Amino acid sequence: MIIAANLKTNLTRHDTALYIEEVEKCAQKSEQEVLIFPAISSLDTFETKVEVGTQNAYPTINGAFTGEIGLEQLDEFGIKTILIGHSERRHILGESQEFIAQKFDYFKDQGFKIVYCVGEPKEVREAGKMKMLAYISAQYEGIDTAYENLIIAYEPVWAIGTGLTPTLEDIQDIHTELKKKSPAPLLYGGSVKVNNIKDVLQVKNVDGVLVGSAALYAEHFCTMIEYADALEK
Ligand code: PEP
Repeated sequence: MIIAANLKTNLTRHDTALYIEEVEKCAQKSEQEVLIFPAISSLDTFETKVEVGTQNAYPTINGAFTGEIGLEQLDEFGIKTILIGHSERRHILGESQEFIAQKFDYFKDQGFKIVYCVGEPKEVREAGKMKMLAYISAQYEGIDTAYENLIIAYEPVWAIGTGLTPTLEDIQDIHTELKKKSPAPLLYGGSVKVNNIKDVLQVKNVDGVLVGSAALYAEHFCTMIEYADALEK
């Protein structure tokens, strides 16, 4: 399974290095594919089994894109994994599907492992399944769903950082629909925690999880990795 942590705008560079050191100890004992997305200022060269990726980058080698980083800055640290389409970038930072698709193409051409996020806001979910599927389908526009280095994360916006989660039946239902769109591994994200990860990982068509707030403590994230190992035994 794939167990990924999105640290968002949390932890200093110093604390991130300690965090990765701790998680590496668990990852070394684990069968899981472990990914960590630290804040950009915490990126570095990590010679670890844990794969460190960037939460964002601009589709460029370098240039005049104030506040962004490009390929040159990622290459410095050997970073070859990127998160694209996260709901906070779509909704808070205003990234359009067109721009997201452009970014996807750029990093696909560079051979990056791409964790591509999709998910609906609350009002769309409340509008019914057809509307919800149409909304999520639009987030696949311009995306090469057959890309061999793709991982998709289904993350309902209303479940991110809220403590709310869909029912397990709802997760299974939407994952079954999304599996028809792409053969890529499909993660669930949105308020996954130590106390619900076992249930989520056992849902059909869930190939792993993307965890935000509950992954901020290495100890908790390690427990999640251990639970994933235990389920596979
Ligand atoms: C996320 O932002 O990708 C996420 C899943 O956050 P949280 O676990 O805090 O809901």
